[in-house]
Amino acid sequence: MKLRISVAWATIACSWLLPAMHVLAGETDDKLRIVVFGAHPDDAQYKAGGTAAKWAKHGHHVKLVSVTNGDVGHWQSAGGPLAQRRLAEVQKADAVIGATTQVLDIHDGELVPSLENRLKIIRIIREWKADIVIAHRPWDYHPDHRYVGVLMQDAAFMVTVPFVCPDVPPLKKNPVFLYSSDGFKKPYPFTADIAVSVDDVFDLKLTAIHEMPSQH
Ligand SMILES: [Zn+2]
Repeated sequence: MKLRISVAWATIACSWLLPAMHVLAGETDDKLRIVVFGAHPDDAQYKAGGTAAKWAKHGHHVKLVSVTNGDVGHWQSAGGPLAQRRLAEVQKADAVIGATTQVLDIHDGELVPSLENRLKIIRIIREWKADIVIAHRPWDYHPDHRYVGVLMQDAAFMVTVPFVCPDVPPLKKNPVFLYSSDGFKKPYPFTADIAVSVDDVFDLKLTAIHEMPSQH
């Protein structure tokens, strides 16, 4: 029997659902531009690595972002050396997946849903010219995961508002915003609006995850 592996997404907001014809300055690119936010350097790869690999195989542009630097996420080491190690690990994993890497220099375990951090998220979504944005739900047990969800929600409308972050041009179309799947039941259990089979890229996803040995 063939093992069917899938990931699921819940839609939180969308003004359109058709594939984008994304017009870049001076050129036309009909590929989608996707950004996935995770709290730590491995979350986006675990949650969306298979789907990202499928998008990348079709020529779409995927960025996997860690909103913290992961500098307390190990049983034995911490601080700058761990942050550097984890950055190198996700860069290797994303090279396997075919995605672009970004890790923000915010301490692991200390993320807060501040205005400063909201503006950082808005800038990343705008600079990537995102058509699809994915992040944790804001009901996770881990405060960093929870606040990534809050920050995405708080950025979701503002990415189109011209005089918020006027240093980066606003998006003309609001992206589709999706939640990554999780097992939390309260206050709202996850329900999937979209499920993606990743059978055909599962070995590749495992290869990518094996590039992050600090985490398992
Ligand atoms: Zn995490």
